[in-house]
Amino acid sequence: MFIPKRIIFEKNAIDYEIGYNIYQFFKDRKEVEFIEMKGNRIKGHIPGDNLREYYKEGKNTLVVGVKKKIDFQSCKPSANYQLPLLSGCVGQCQYCYLNTNLSERPYIKVNVNIDDIFMWANDYIEARKPEKTIFEGSATSDPVPVEPYTNILKSAIEFFSKSESGRFRFVTKFTDIDTLLDIEHNGHTEVRFSLNTEKIINEYEKRTPSLEKRLEASRKIIESGYPMGFLIAPVFLYDNWQKDYKELLFKMKESIPEKTAYPITFEIISHRYTAKAKSTISEIFPENTLPMNDEERVCRFGQFGYKKFMYKNDEINEMKEFFIKEIESIFDGNVIKYII
Ligand code: SF4
Repeated sequence: MFIPKRIIFEKNAIDYEIGYNIYQFFKDRKEVEFIEMKGNRIKGHIPGDNLREYYKEGKNTLVVGVKKKIDFQSCKPSANYQLPLLSGCVGQCQYCYLNTNLSERPYIKVNVNIDDIFMWANDYIEARKPEKTIFEGSATSDPVPVEPYTNILKSAIEFFSKSESGRFRFVTKFTDIDTLLDIEHNGHTEVRFSLNTEKIINEYEKRTPSLEKRLEASRKIIESGYPMGFLIAPVFLYDNWQKDYKELLFKMKESIPEKTAYPITFEIISHRYTAKAKSTISEIFPENTLPMNDEERVCRFGQFGYKKFMYKNDEINEMKEFFIKEIESIFDGNVIKYII
């Protein structure tokens, strides 16, 4: 569970149940500083004279805010729309995709007016009926480390459990999921765990739980009857990557119960980076060893107009063939949602 060094409350945020509960949860902890936000600039309340210091302090900051009405962003290929419950993450993965557009906002921000957000989601659901509408809860965050005291995921899962055509999914590297185990989900929420080889976790996924802990949490989620999936991302094609990823697939297989209520799903995403992310990463982690040599990659435009540096086509094809073959031979009745 994430214990912030400081909590910044935006105007009126404490008047909402979630804001009040966060205050109650931390009010007797001497190590937590409470800040009432003045004006509309969060940045001025977080110390740090350069990006590196600001990032470090931001990663220890929780912002409690009220979300203004916005158009929901699309979320290909994982869902129809992003659900804007939270943004930011307490993890410090060096390759993190948030480095592209959230590097100025490294803090985790929770939006307390979730009833408004669910109401807006409902408009999208109604508009697409009779099609199902899928919402992604972790497009710009990892929501799990703050769940024990925000109960935001719990509320979302309960909301979607009653929805005829709305579905919810989120992905995490964290394991604070115990409050989600005994609640009504009706199979309408899919929980995915983001995994990688031991080498990648140790080298790049700083301040995140171990592979064993994530597998243990994924088992609990399956045992609670949820649809559960694995996100293997980002896949790095280093020397002997096949051996390590095969080992990972076997560990995943060993950890899941024999009978599952739903087929295990797989989403696999190769490593890619943007020029913006590369420059941010180089500033925050100057000693990083991430493979980011532009000459070795091909350039493609992503859905939000960013240029992405991807592995070359023959490398991606080799990766696809590898995962399709191995997943099909190791797991029965699996569903590979996409490999990109
Ligand atoms: Fe980024 Fe996910 Fe790592 Fe958080 S856990 S830092 S969102 S990659």
